[in-house]
Amino acid sequence: MNAPRATTAPRGAEPLVHRAQPPADVLVRGAHVLDPRAGIDAPLDVLVRGGVIAELGAPDTLDAPAGAEVLDGRGKHLLPGFVDPHVHFRVPGQEHKEDLDSGTRAAAAGGYVAVVAMPNTNPTVDDATVLGSLREAARREARIPVGFMASVTRRLAGEALTEMAELRDEGALGFTDDGKPVHRAAILRRALQYQRLCGGVLALHEEDPSLSGAGVMHEGEVSARLGLAGIPSISESTMIARDAAIAGYEAGRIHIQHLSAVESVEAVAVAKARGVAITAEVSPHHLTLTCDALRDNLDTRLKMNPPLRSEHDRQALIAALRDGTVDCIATDHAPHAREEKEVPFEEAPMGTTGLETAFAALHTELVLPGVLPLALVVEKLSAGAALVGLPLPAVAVGRPADLCLIDLAATWEVGEAGYESRAENCCFAGRTLQGRVLATLAAGAVVYRERAFAVSAA
Ligand SMILES: [Zn+2]
Repeated sequence: MNAPRATTAPRGAEPLVHRAQPPADVLVRGAHVLDPRAGIDAPLDVLVRGGVIAELGAPDTLDAPAGAEVLDGRGKHLLPGFVDPHVHFRVPGQEHKEDLDSGTRAAAAGGYVAVVAMPNTNPTVDDATVLGSLREAARREARIPVGFMASVTRRLAGEALTEMAELRDEGALGFTDDGKPVHRAAILRRALQYQRLCGGVLALHEEDPSLSGAGVMHEGEVSARLGLAGIPSISESTMIARDAAIAGYEAGRIHIQHLSAVESVEAVAVAKARGVAITAEVSPHHLTLTCDALRDNLDTRLKMNPPLRSEHDRQALIAALRDGTVDCIATDHAPHAREEKEVPFEEAPMGTTGLETAFAALHTELVLPGVLPLALVVEKLSAGAALVGLPLPAVAVGRPADLCLIDLAATWEVGEAGYESRAENCCFAGRTLQGRVLATLAAGAVVYRERAFAVSAA
């Protein structure tokens, strides 16, 4: 094995880009501040001046400077904002599904302060020119900072590697063929060898197409009963085992996207125990839903890749989040146009949106019943920043305001008031969730404020 190496730090271009916005002067008064990494779990006043966290103080002790906005945080929670390492914004090429403005609006409404967009667009983000113009568009349109991954192979075809070093210089945070696996082992091996030169994590969508075939849902009792083609868990786990072995051999760094099955958790755990530089993410929908939901209702909003799996799998994912086998939560926000999803289940495209519902779904389904502590969920919702070498948001003096204010008691029906996203294909649609984002500050600016949430000037 080669010696391990550090490959995270972005190089050259700034890692995240967004539209310039006026820096905030805001006093959040008396919110319960919860920043697990900083060890803060108490009611505090938090003063933001010029977009930077300027002062923390006991409740009702800080004065709002003239002109500052005052957010009444009493009875609310103030958290470090969330970072999503896996979203699809459909730009360039499919802006009717989502664009940088609508996608980042959805993210801000979900409490996110930074997101990383996948390159499976049209054209693919597989050369520096496409990446450069995408980043230019984000400088005009994105409401919160966005980073971009480039593809591992040209046109996601799995054959020729992209110019990884050039793409890194242009600002690619890492590489992924997400939506597809890197099917040929030799291609992944070569990419890991280039990673040694240029850095950047390799994020892997793990699926063996010879096993997943034409499957449309998890292979098991429910698919058998419905007579639908299944996607077996081993389609994912065997590829994880293969890729972990290759990464170990090349001393490269890989990240496993959207883990869905118990066998996959085991494969990641084995690789970690062997010292492979491997991380993994899990989505809110895989943590909270199972394929049982399809038993009586073939709702195309519940069709995604990897598919919702069994309760046994879901429990394994929860345990993996708890014990650290899974490093972070990522939504895999995958918008589709309404007419694309309004077709028979077998024909519908895979994917669900997730940015606006991630926190509320996890809070409702896992925190409130006592399955996972709130602090763990909050920590994992931003832990994805580390994958791509970004600083973790923190409630700390001197840090940029990357914060979200949340009402943990507020209930709302998903979709009832529409979505900030351009798409409606949300797997939680119609559910009543508890936990509502009231305001989000990203990179020092107020980027979202819930309609009904009162603001007063000092
Ligand atoms: Zn994806």
